[in-house]
Order: sequence, then C-alpha cells, then structure tokens
Amino acid sequence: MTIDMEMGVTVSPESAAIDSSESPSVATDGTAKRVLNAFTVDVEDYFQVSAFEGIVKRSQWETHHSRVVTNTHKLLKLLEQHQTRATFFVLGWVADRYPQLVRDIDAAGHEIGCHSYWHRLVYDLTPDAFRDDVRLSRDVLQQILGRSVTAYRAPSFSITQRSTWALDILADEGFTFDSSIYPIYHDRYGMPQAERFPHVLETQSGSLTEFPPAVLRLTGVNLPVSGGGYFRLYPVQFSAFCLGQINRTTRQPFIFYVHPWELDPEQPRFQAKYLTRFRHYTNLNTTERKLAALLKRFQFGAAEEAVCRGNQPDGCPPLKTIRLDPGSPKPLSDAHAPHIR
Ligand SMILES: [Zn+2]
Repeated sequence: MTIDMEMGVTVSPESAAIDSSESPSVATDGTAKRVLNAFTVDVEDYFQVSAFEGIVKRSQWETHHSRVVTNTHKLLKLLEQHQTRATFFVLGWVADRYPQLVRDIDAAGHEIGCHSYWHRLVYDLTPDAFRDDVRLSRDVLQQILGRSVTAYRAPSFSITQRSTWALDILADEGFTFDSSIYPIYHDRYGMPQAERFPHVLETQSGSLTEFPPAVLRLTGVNLPVSGGGYFRLYPVQFSAFCLGQINRTTRQPFIFYVHPWELDPEQPRFQAKYLTRFRHYTNLNTTERKLAALLKRFQFGAAEEAVCRGNQPDGCPPLKTIRLDPGSPKPLSDAHAPHIR
C-alpha cells in the first residue's frame, strides 16, 4: 500500500523501517500500561475552513446555514459513549453565536481552549492583529465560562517558521498551552524539523507547553498521523498502527484532532479546486465509525492532562525545555527548517 497525501509524502508502510527499539512500559503484574493520549476537537463550521477562504468571505459567514452545533453534539455523544474527556478548541466566532454550545461542552466535563476568532492564518497577520484576535476569542470564551482559558491552537496549525513571534504573544496573554506547530511539510503549514513530542517553550513572556500534532518518524520522514484529512484518508487500521507505534516505541503520548464537519457527509458542497474538494470531502461518511474504533483502541484524555507530568506510565520521558531567544526566528530543534508554502 502506498499513501500519497496532500503534503507529497509517499510511504509504503510494509517496507518502512519503523524504529521499534523500545518496548511499552510494563506494569508489575505483567500487563502493558496504556499511555494517556490527547483527543482534541477544533470547533468550526464547514464554511470556515482555511481551504475555502477564497470562496467564502468572512463577511458572508452569517449567510451560510450553520451545522456546527449539531455536528459538535455528535462528537459529544461519541465521547460520552466512550467515557472520554477531550479538549475542544473553539472558534471565537462560533462561541459568540452559540454560547450554549460552549456551555454544553463544558458541562460534559471537557477542557475548552481557543481556536482564534476569525480563523485567519497566523503568518498572514501582523503581531498586533494576532494579539487582537487572540484577545477577542479568549474574552468571548472566558465570559461564557466565567474562568480563564489558557490553551490555544492556531487555525490550520499556522505557527510556522514565519510566525514564531506568536508564541511570545500567547504567553504574554496568559496562555500556558499551545498545539499549533505541526512537524511536517505541507503547503499551508508545518515546521518539519520542529520537536515532535510535548515540550516546554520558554518565551520572553513566560512558559508555554507545546504539544505538536502527532507524526510517525519513518525512514527519516515525519508522516502526519494526527487526524483531520489524513485520518479520513488512511484506513483506520493504519492510523491505529501508526499511533500505537508512537506509544510503543517512544512511550510518549500523541495528540489527535478532528473537526465537527468531518462527521457530516450531508454538509453543503462548495465548488472548489479538485485538491481542495479531495482534502475536505474524502470519506466524511466513515469518520464517525473510524473514531469509535480509535476511542475503543486507545486511552484518551484532555490535552493538558496527557502531557507527561507524572501522570503517565513509568518511563514517559520528561519534558524537554527549549528556550526561545529574543528576536530569533529559529527557536526549535533545527535552525535550518525551511519556509513552508
Ligand atoms: Zn480550524
């Protein structure tokens, strides 16, 4: 089987050399302890995704029939059936219009984070515009919840080599957790040389725990296996195998993500380029079933509780700390990460 997804990565799983030098942590009774992984949801509507930016203007969002409440409730139900806690990164625009949805997510016991207000790519914004958007979305959520919101995920993982300045702003605005840096090649996002596991970023304004979307290292290439379009495209057995390899070979947790519109095969279709339609509409009708299989297979929790802080099976490696030098455009593990896009 060969998988050639949107990022141009081609991998043949049967022939791929997977590093399996380490074994899972084994409890004293001989059973394998299961790593607690993170299940996350980016709460946005089908017409708000970055891929349709050129087709649906933000000023037109109000005119489209919203399906985000119904679709998010499908996920809430699924998570309840599997007694799983998750983190929901909610778009400020959605929270503003559907505050009861935010209250429902909260009442179900999930963690709530911020997914910006307008779903604009971070590297397209000035630092001031980014700060304004962060504040707007955070304040809407905080007003609904009556407590602080400290977790953030950028639209389309758009904290890249061009926008690492955003990390300092997040810390300055009181955020302590981020999941916006995808260590892969992609035309819209990614920093392929970035750290692959949860770590602490020391910014000038404070510490951020960074939890990068999951990748499996195969023959020197980071294969994205964290969710979204990749999860819809891959057979679920393949996703489960790859995610399991991360737990087994590294003893590290992985972070998984899904969008409410990915469980909605009935959503209105936009006329877009073939690649965009392929990315957005592939296998929408099987997402729910595949998610159920994943929820059965792995142990999941909210993002912040899955970070190794003594709550994981023995052997989970301690968090690495990476210092962001003031003014440096290269804060991550490889100073020569290429520009993406
Ligand atoms: Zn998004």
